[in-house]
Amino acid sequence: RVDPRSASVATVCPYCGVGCGVLATPDGCGGAAVAGDPDHPANHGRLCSKGSALHETLSLDGRLLHPMLRAGETLRRATWDAALDHVAQGFARIIDTHGPQAVAFYLSGQLLTEDYYAANKLIKGFIGSPNVDTNSRLCMASTVAGHKRALGADVVPGCYEDLDCADLIVLVGSNAAWCHPILFQRMLRNKQERGARIVVIDPRRTATAEEADLFLPIAPGGDVALFCGLLVHLVANGATCDDYIAQHTEGFTQALAAAREIAPTIAATAAAAGLREGDVAAFFELVATTPKTVTAFSQGVNQSAQGTDKVDAIIHCHLATGRIGAPGAAPFSLTGQPNAMGGREVGGLANQLAAHMGFSSAEVDRVRRFWSAPRVATHEGLKAVQMFEAIARGEIKALWVMGTNPAVSLPRADDARAALAKLDLFVVSDNVLSNDTINAGAHVLLPAQAWGEKSGTVTNSERRISRQRAFLPSPGEAKPDWRIVSDVATRMGFCDAFRFQSAADVFREHAALSAFENDGSRSFDIGGLATLSDEAYDALHPTLWPIRAGETKGRARFFGEGGYFTANGKARFIAPEPPSLKAATTAAFPFRLNTGRIRDQWHTMTRTGKSPRLARHSPFPFVEIHPADAAPLGLVDGGFACVSSRHAECLLAVSVTDRQRRGQLFAPIHWSDETASFARVGSLVAAIVDPHSGQPEAKATPARIDAV
Ligand code: SF4
Repeated sequence: RVDPRSASVATVCPYCGVGCGVLATPDGCGGAAVAGDPDHPANHGRLCSKGSALHETLSLDGRLLHPMLRAGETLRRATWDAALDHVAQGFARIIDTHGPQAVAFYLSGQLLTEDYYAANKLIKGFIGSPNVDTNSRLCMASTVAGHKRALGADVVPGCYEDLDCADLIVLVGSNAAWCHPILFQRMLRNKQERGARIVVIDPRRTATAEEADLFLPIAPGGDVALFCGLLVHLVANGATCDDYIAQHTEGFTQALAAAREIAPTIAATAAAAGLREGDVAAFFELVATTPKTVTAFSQGVNQSAQGTDKVDAIIHCHLATGRIGAPGAAPFSLTGQPNAMGGREVGGLANQLAAHMGFSSAEVDRVRRFWSAPRVATHEGLKAVQMFEAIARGEIKALWVMGTNPAVSLPRADDARAALAKLDLFVVSDNVLSNDTINAGAHVLLPAQAWGEKSGTVTNSERRISRQRAFLPSPGEAKPDWRIVSDVATRMGFCDAFRFQSAADVFREHAALSAFENDGSRSFDIGGLATLSDEAYDALHPTLWPIRAGETKGRARFFGEGGYFTANGKARFIAPEPPSLKAATTAAFPFRLNTGRIRDQWHTMTRTGKSPRLARHSPFPFVEIHPADAAPLGLVDGGFACVSSRHAECLLAVSVTDRQRRGQLFAPIHWSDETASFARVGSLVAAIVDPHSGQPEAKATPARIDAV
């Protein structure tokens, strides 16, 4: 879509899950000016610090511009034909020798939906391996599992407008002021203009907490107890909606009984969650008396070995009060990445097939017929942590990593890096020439287009599909990921199924699959977009899903009148496990390490690291510690410390601050061996996962800290 006023191209920010619209105006020299898109419903023209600095990140410095093949110790430039043949023949050889499950793909929430769709189709439908997972496993897999258990499908029940009209916004495990800044500004505007109150529940007194009316500095692992206590309180104070519970849910009695075991009183709740009794009482009273409540949650909830129970404990309080699917009332997952939602929609996760379908025989058969696929995967594949463990054991022989950096971001990242070195065939498609993953021994590099060069769609946290549009020429020999995947598929003999000529072709097929034999029982349905012309696809206005065949407008909310995607149409209360942290602290590792983001960097800094302005905010890798913990250890603000866990150690600058709880450390995730020595914090994190979602616990690794 070209803005007639300025010849700007309307696209979407490539960073967080808010999905802000950006107007990019190319300068004709490889750069562009950027501004917020006033017509985009997510941001209405605003951009945060990262979005505003996008124009500083467009240089071709460090870009991978040509295919590369390993020759001994070095990677050498190759032709596309040679590189694609190498990949296709390598996969075929490994499939013949070891079976399809010896091949795995590891994808990214940075990919566009079209890229994700093509990759998932190739591996699950044509290679026949279920072993495809994505870095979204590290981001929001617990929300997916929690949604599916409680709601019957991975559906976000509300939309951003609910944050504008709620009277109470509860933020759990979310530093939205830094990680979803534009959405947080909407919340603040609601507070300033309508008097909405904001409660923040987080172990750290973050920038978000500074704006809260009530801040609960919860102990790690305390969320299930807190929301069980809230459920008990809502029942005891007559704040539940008995009609909604009776008509639209099941399992309430058992879940309430479990909640009463875990957190029978306010005092017990406060003790279990490490909070002051008065704060807990004030929070419960606010929720009990405020019908228009949105509970928004993010990585502090998801990145937990009990993440699925945490998500559902939150959802339970909304189900019990009927506060779901109405303006200003919903549980709301804040997605981390720009297209984690799109990846969920196409089946990029190992436990999904495609278009939100699972692996029942009927669903496998439906996808097989739609794709005319020879060997559709018939069961769930290995989730991220399991996948890299299987690589280490030698069970997975070939891996294709697309647009992500697992040697930095996975838990026990040193082990992940060592595993990569064991692969017989290790393919990376990316737009950088060097990162920790590539440097772990990639055999083939395939140059992918970057933001500003590629074209497709993304879905943001509120289920809104937006067009990401190219506004720069494609550099060197870079190609869109969907094209690279299709080229490999064609060389493997699957040319009929991968005749895509454009991103629009891929999108139409994805939309058609979502509607294929869908009688409304499947939540994800964008059949209304399946017949878009190329011109209509290019002009597509940001649209909420579902948008079924014959519809012209998406749906803002679900479940106000029930209609859950379970077999009997009822939401499910699920009794949680008693709260616990799986890894205990010890005398050797007495602290809990919490990892997370900072305001002005994104993931492993391959884009934001190019902006001098963004680097100024937090220039060095650091660890935060409470003053009372720092003093006896001889740690001083601005000094250096060695932070270690059972798995690795890092050298970090010390930040002494009472924003931290006693006994806890916080370190950001962004630095890698490319950007700093000994600061790859992922190497410290334990690989303990939630049993339902497979998402790793990234907020409570036992650790120690020593002055250096
Ligand atoms: Fe980009 Fe997120 Fe900032 Fe919006 S809030 S400009 S999507 S980083």
